[in-house]
Amino acid sequence: MTDDLKAAGAQVFADDRAHVFHSWSAQGAISPLPIAGAEGSYFWDYDGNRYLDFSSQLVNTNIGHQHPKVVAAIQEQAGKLCTIAPSFANDVRGQAARMIAELAPGDLNYVFFTNGGAEAVENAVRLARLHTGRSKVLSTYRSYHGSTSTAISLTGDPRRWANDAVGQSTGGAVHFFGPHLYRSHFHATTEAEECERALQHLEETIQYEGPATIAAVIMETIVGTAGVLMPPPGYLAGVRALCDKYGILYIADEVMAGFARSGAWLAIDHWGVTPDLITFAKGSNSGYVPIGGVIISEKIRETFKDRVYPGGLTYSGHPLACASIVATINAMREEKTIEHAAWLGEEVFGPELRAMAERHPSVGEVRGVGAFWALDLVRSKETREMLVPYNAAGADAAPMNELAAAMKARGVWPFINFNRLHVVPPCNISEADARKGLAALDEALAVVDVYA
Ligand code: PMP
Repeated sequence: MTDDLKAAGAQVFADDRAHVFHSWSAQGAISPLPIAGAEGSYFWDYDGNRYLDFSSQLVNTNIGHQHPKVVAAIQEQAGKLCTIAPSFANDVRGQAARMIAELAPGDLNYVFFTNGGAEAVENAVRLARLHTGRSKVLSTYRSYHGSTSTAISLTGDPRRWANDAVGQSTGGAVHFFGPHLYRSHFHATTEAEECERALQHLEETIQYEGPATIAAVIMETIVGTAGVLMPPPGYLAGVRALCDKYGILYIADEVMAGFARSGAWLAIDHWGVTPDLITFAKGSNSGYVPIGGVIISEKIRETFKDRVYPGGLTYSGHPLACASIVATINAMREEKTIEHAAWLGEEVFGPELRAMAERHPSVGEVRGVGAFWALDLVRSKETREMLVPYNAAGADAAPMNELAAAMKARGVWPFINFNRLHVVPPCNISEADARKGLAALDEALAVVDVYA
């Protein structure tokens, strides 16, 4: 490693600490690693350390870093047209919208583009409120929907409350418990029981809140940040049926689960259910240029045929981002990324992680599908006590910090949230790299087994 490169890294760090205000952090308590570059499933720092990215950053680089076809499409578009207001028609914007509509279920034929996931949630909720003339929106306690005001209010992740003494939440958000058999709120012992009781609980919540006041239920198809929670068979169809019964819209949040992550184009494809609105972002272009959006059904679009939709964003349908969506969908088709992610889940991640759960006393449960997995780490398999509590800080958080350090020391970058280690590499990671990362995880788990 040359001294020049090390000096460049030191300058990156100095500028960051002097002027960058970071997300989700106490500003004085962090030490962000300066990153020099990335390619495929790897990124590297200025000191010559290479990391296998088992986090896909924030679970967004579904097609890996610097995919040449996506980079080329952005470069080509930059040479043609970098920006044009959303009020104009534009070639790549129309193509991206058509391609997304084609892979969405039912008659979800229209796309409203945003700059990311939280704005997609904000606009899905506004569309639902304006369409129904109702204000409340129901979401699950275990969820993450973004950190803008409506999105954070809907988020059920306990992080949301950590610093909320000043009341950052907006009105109209009502929470309920979704199904989660391993930590069941319904004292269920089978998936069928959990499904039935969770649906009963949702229906009671709807009745207590008053169906005529509820615009929508929003739900991550597979709950992501809050634990990779797979809905039991029949649950999402049951939610659809309850929404239909009470005239409530069903918003599927596919910001994390969509675009190959679950081994399907959209996670909802696994269950054959058609929501009224779908939000997307992250994997749609791996985040190379910020973009997200809402996929909208015919009946909701009809509401705004003669009536103005009172919302918009300067960069809605940004040409560089839309060109990268077109290139991403084409690349995923050509390279069979969906099939590869599904295969990895069935043949590599599923069997290997379940085998680790047998070997390691700290691994309470393994959940997931495709390239979307979580280990629920515990102090005791019997009591299922979480290895670290929600919002753990300082000494309480030590076990998970030690696990992260043990993985990084083995060249694998982890995604950790509370007591969970998520295995969420790029969906096109090679089998060899997937097995390499899993071997590092297997070794690293020894540092938390001592707490179990
Ligand atoms: N919804 C879900 C399901 C998410 O996982 C996220 C981001 N983790 C968001 C919404 C918010 O997306 P963004 O960070 O792009 O605003």
